[in-house]
Amino acid sequence: MDIKTAEFTLSAPRVSMCPNDTKPEYAFIGRSNVGKSSLINMLSRNKKLAKTSSTPGKTLLINHFLINREWYLVDLPGYGYAKRSKTEVAKLDQMIRGYILEREQLVNVFVLVDIRLEPQKIDLEFINWLGLSSIPFAIIFTKADKLSEGKVKASVDAYVRKMLETWEEMPPYFVTSSEKARGRDEVLDYIDQINKS
Ligand code: GDP
Repeated sequence: MDIKTAEFTLSAPRVSMCPNDTKPEYAFIGRSNVGKSSLINMLSRNKKLAKTSSTPGKTLLINHFLINREWYLVDLPGYGYAKRSKTEVAKLDQMIRGYILEREQLVNVFVLVDIRLEPQKIDLEFINWLGLSSIPFAIIFTKADKLSEGKVKASVDAYVRKMLETWEEMPPYFVTSSEKARGRDEVLDYIDQINKS
């Protein structure tokens, strides 16, 4: 699949204010600064679709982008931003979990993890929660261009081992780099396959 059109639809502060539409939705989430905006821009080949910013965790809303007038790419707020107050964190958490649990149009959650880091507790907890909630998800490793191929492989292997401590099988995963457009076809084809099934 290629992306011919990518249009910003709306930003919602809660699930009840998401678009009144039945098209399938694919959500992207991860820790602040994981490279989510860069990945969304890379996938859509639009450098400005999601705002990349040096201020981590700027997006605090559920952002919908209509792709090819067929499906929505949903940019969820980043989690784990240390400089937020407890009340703010709780509010964001409620918004994210509310969307994921209640949005019937949601088909798949892509959890972004920085390939340079060891498996992080906050990501593993989030992934476990998705699994326990029976939400289909896939993992996207970001910033692969920052490591040598050997280290990319070692990092992915370590993540797989960690996941297999808890899960019977590794969920689908993708190695990506927004700098090099690595993984673009794989992620878009994955979405395409689900849309056609
Ligand atoms: P977000 O907070 O998750 O939306 O993260 P951003 O997309 O704003 O990226 C955070 C920082 O990582 C920025 O300085 C980006 O330029 C950088 N970054 C994101 N993706 C990549 C990538 O694939 N390769 C490299 N080298 N840097 C990246």
